[in-house]
Amino acid sequence: MKKFPTIGILGGGQLAQMLALTGYPLGFRFVFFDPIADACAGLVGHLIVADYDNEIALEEFCKQCDYVTYDFENVPVKAAKFVAKRSQIFPHPNVLEIAQDRLKEKLLFKQQLNLPVGDFYAVDSYSELVFATKSCEQDGFLKTRRMGYDGKGQHRITAQTDLKKLWDEIDGGSFILEKAVNFNREISVILARNASGDIICYELCENKHKQGILTTTLVPAVASKHSPKAFDYAKKIANEIKYVGVLAVEMFETDDGLYINEMAPRVHNSGHWTIEGAVTSQFENHLRAGVGLPLGTTEMSQGFSAMINWISEIPTVALTSKEKGVYWHIYGKQDRPGRKVGHSTVVADNAQDLHTKVVHLAKLLGA
Ligand code: AMP
Repeated sequence: MKKFPTIGILGGGQLAQMLALTGYPLGFRFVFFDPIADACAGLVGHLIVADYDNEIALEEFCKQCDYVTYDFENVPVKAAKFVAKRSQIFPHPNVLEIAQDRLKEKLLFKQQLNLPVGDFYAVDSYSELVFATKSCEQDGFLKTRRMGYDGKGQHRITAQTDLKKLWDEIDGGSFILEKAVNFNREISVILARNASGDIICYELCENKHKQGILTTTLVPAVASKHSPKAFDYAKKIANEIKYVGVLAVEMFETDDGLYINEMAPRVHNSGHWTIEGAVTSQFENHLRAGVGLPLGTTEMSQGFSAMINWISEIPTVALTSKEKGVYWHIYGKQDRPGRKVGHSTVVADNAQDLHTKVVHLAKLLGA
């Protein structure tokens, strides 16, 4: 590996920002590519502002990069493939192709790997919506196949839903209807895999969502009879797609076992706690995997950790309170309803202390 490699990141959001903030002390340099001029990674490095179909700008970007990775999974595959011809890129753009389409992703889990997923149906027409709704016993989630995230592009389907009105409102397109999974909790596995196939996993994360958006992650998730399988499932997926970098796999835990919800081919919000809560953060391990450095230990720095998202706005109290074991991350994004604008990490050496700190923080934030 070159001494000071430059990492290019397609997408300039907070994940790109945190990758760079982690990579600078390791001697890495960064350049970001985003169509939006005030993308927050631009606060910490050079940002090329251009559309993803601007091949001249992409060419210029590639000239500056030794390796390229992504800030989000919806980077157009065409742009990623263009870059892949000119620079080393991780993970491979083929992985984006799967992760960008909820149907392809579910088929990978279910048909290719025989892993448990909830019932789902492809919906491309009103009559398919009616059929699928019946098959889901009128209890499901209609999701756009493409470009959905943080609960966007999702509609709850119940016996009360006026399907005709909904179909007219969404004005066609490709969807999947998933039967609602009656879960006890949501968990995620954050792992890093390198090109030789070595895999390391962080402690299991337990996640709480509000209106489809992650609000809190608690680590380690209390072990259950089903939870060890989560690691096997996530590793199977990573190996099947020959993944390089950090991969997150989100799952539902029910009385009967685990159901895989989705994967994210990138560093993940439920892994943000690793910046202070683990010896090697997910950001560092993503970079290490991509440039071929040995993966760092995922051991926790203290016994317990939590992450709380700041959604819509930064509370004014944020930096006025300085407490041991509580860390603030403000991304520098403009406030907007439903937007992730920062997070806090909490670390503690026992569950009670973690709980006290999380409750205190939640109160400070008015959560
Ligand atoms: P997603 O964008 O697919 O991760 O969905 C966002 C959130 O909506 C999930 O974290 C769950 O809380 C909820 N959700 C999505 N799909 C289902 C489902 N099939 N059954 C139950 N809850 C779901």
